[in-house]
Order: sequence, then C-alpha cells, then structure tokens
Amino acid sequence: MSGGAGERRSGPVERCRSCGGARLETVLDLGSTPLANALPADPSTAEPTYPLAVAICRECTLVQTTYWVSGELIFGGDYPYYSSYSTDYLRHARDHALELIERRALGPGSLVVEIASNDGYLLRNFAERGVPVLGIDPARGPAEKAREIGVPTLEEYFGADLARRLRAEGRRADVVLGNNVLAHVDDPNQLAAGVAILLEPGGVAVFEVPYLVDLVERCAFDTIYHEHNCYFSLRALQNLFGRHGLRVIDVRRLEVHGGSLRLSVGWGGEERPAVAELRSLEDRLGVANPDFYQEFARRVASVTRDLRDLLARSRERGERVAAYGAAAKGATLANAAGIGPDLVAYVVDRNPAKQGRFLPGVRIPIVPPERLREDPPDLLLVFAWNLLPEIRAQLGDFAGRWLVPIPEPRIL
Ligand code: ZN
Repeated sequence: MSGGAGERRSGPVERCRSCGGARLETVLDLGSTPLANALPADPSTAEPTYPLAVAICRECTLVQTTYWVSGELIFGGDYPYYSSYSTDYLRHARDHALELIERRALGPGSLVVEIASNDGYLLRNFAERGVPVLGIDPARGPAEKAREIGVPTLEEYFGADLARRLRAEGRRADVVLGNNVLAHVDDPNQLAAGVAILLEPGGVAVFEVPYLVDLVERCAFDTIYHEHNCYFSLRALQNLFGRHGLRVIDVRRLEVHGGSLRLSVGWGGEERPAVAELRSLEDRLGVANPDFYQEFARRVASVTRDLRDLLARSRERGERVAAYGAAAKGATLANAAGIGPDLVAYVVDRNPAKQGRFLPGVRIPIVPPERLREDPPDLLLVFAWNLLPEIRAQLGDFAGRWLVPIPEPRIL
C-alpha cells in the first residue's frame, strides 16, 4: 500500500512525512539494498538498489526512512505477498473481527472498510457473518483473490479523494481497519485525512502497526525495508491523528509481527488509561531522543557481525545451513549481514509464488519446505523469527539445530 493519488517519484526524503519539518536526523544506515519483496526469478539479473536508512524527525519524533521508493516500483510488478499464508496470523485476524462485531454490535446495516485489505483474509470474517464490507487495495492479484471469496474490493490507493467519493455515494464507515498499512504509506496525512472523511461520527478506526519500541528493544532491524516508510511510537501517532481532528482513544501491545500496537482512533470520547500509560513508558525510554537509537545502531552492527561469524564457523566445520521464511525480513537481514549462498544453501518457504525465485541481492534460492527432508541441514536459520513457535510445530521432526538471529544470534 502506498501514497495515494498524485504519487511522487522515488527519491530522497527531505521533509518529515508527518509534520513536514526539515530536521531529520539519521539514526541507522543499512547501506544500499534491493527491494526486499522483489524476488528475482533469474539469479543473473542485477536488480536496482536504493539507500536504506532511518531518521528521526526532531519536530514530531516520527522515525522514517530517508529514501522513498514509489509504489509503482513495489506494486507494479508481481507482488508475491498474500496474507493468507500464516495460520497464526489468520487466527489473530479472525479473533479481532469477532471482537469488533460483538463490541460494536455490527450487523447488516453497518459498513466495515479495510485499507490495504490484501486477499480479504480479515474482511471475510465480517462478510461471513452478514456484515457489509469494502476492501481497498491497489495490488491486483490479492484483490482478485479477495473478490473470489466474497469480499468486494476496490483496486485503488486510499486517500482523501477516494474517501470523498465514497462519502458522496452515501457510504460512511462504522469501522475502518488498517493493518500494517500506516507504516507503508509515503504520506500518512493522506491516510489520516481519508479516515477523517470516511468515519461515521460514532465510528472507530483500528490500526495495527509494528511498534517502534519493540523494534528497538528486540533489535528487529530486519523489519526495516523500503516498503516500511514509518516506524511509529504512540507519541508520533498521536501527533499524526491529532492534526486531522482524530484522537487515539485506546492502545494495546500485540505480539504479531515481532511486536505491534493496536490503536483505536475516534472523534473523542473517553480515553482508556492504556494510552497515558504507554505514553509515559515512551517518555521514560526517551523515544524522542536520538540517543535511544544510537545504542540500537551499535547493537545492529554487532548482531550482523556475530551472525556472519557464526555461519562462517559452521561452514569451516563442514556443516550445512539452510534458512526458513523468504519474507522481507530475511532479505534485509541477509543483505545487511552479507549472507549469501556460500553460507546458507537455500531458504524454504511455504508460499508457492516465492518458490523457484531467489532472495534479492544475496541470491539464496527459495525452495519448498520438503527440501528440508530431502537435503537436511545441520542448522536452520529462522529468518521468520516472529513465527518461530508455529514453524517449530510444523517441522516437529526436524532433527537439526535452530539458529534464531534476533535479538542476538543464538542456537536452540
Ligand atoms: Zn515530523
């Protein structure tokens, strides 16, 4: 999901995406890397690389990438990400839908709109229970899949223009959902403005975003890639929505995606105590202060160095190493640490759309999980460390050792 109508071309970010301030201070630089989700089918083609660094805005505290890669480049080609591939995540989505239906008393007269609805994995839970839904997602393949399962989907970018059009058609939302979309947009104000136009006076918008504090505390720098433009603290989110007359009325920390916030935004009403509690935690940690990120950058450097050393020692001992999960995380980690097929023979992934391709940059071949039985490694590097319990359950008979890279490399 990206920036909306009138999207700008790729290039350096000169001004804060949220407040427009010019005081952006770089806090972590991962060099120049290929797009983490553009998996080449031919290992001999050289893919373009783009600077990958994050900066903090000294005005509104939003942490963000310093280079914008346009959605054309990211979504124009074939985009292999379909949400419906992690069973834990599907359960998480269903639980959230059921909770909203009950708490908001949603029924046939309601409307639930989801921004970046992907293949309809979340909205189908409402549709199946008779609650009208509308998905919005510019990615063609997933949008088609969504329509196939009964989730009407507009193949468009969400922003103020689309929200105005829907409202002119008499459509306003009781619930707006946006999971893992706020971090992806180039202009979060477009999204917040659109929500303000579309949301009923008594409605609620619920967003899930990877949480900046979890990213730093878990040293999850592998969740930094070009499609993730913003890394939100609660403080930065309050600044963003406040600009559009909306308020954060509730917040909850979640384990998904390595640590996320679920944020409820509305026009007013009572603010739950969790909001002030989290805000004061952030103040104690110093999320507005660049020092908080300098220590993080030092830890990132030591994780990449230690991981490469550990893999090089394995190779010297004649051990065979494979990896699990060809997600963007794996691409960021492998490129940042310089891990290629000489250190990791192959990476398995359950998603057939990724199989037969290669991790970008480092060119590790992506193969089906059956390969782990046919050609068993001594060590399995878990790129998708956030799904570790699920992966271990799936691969119950795996006889080798597990290597978890984050927050520091460790063998299980
Ligand atoms: Zn700012």
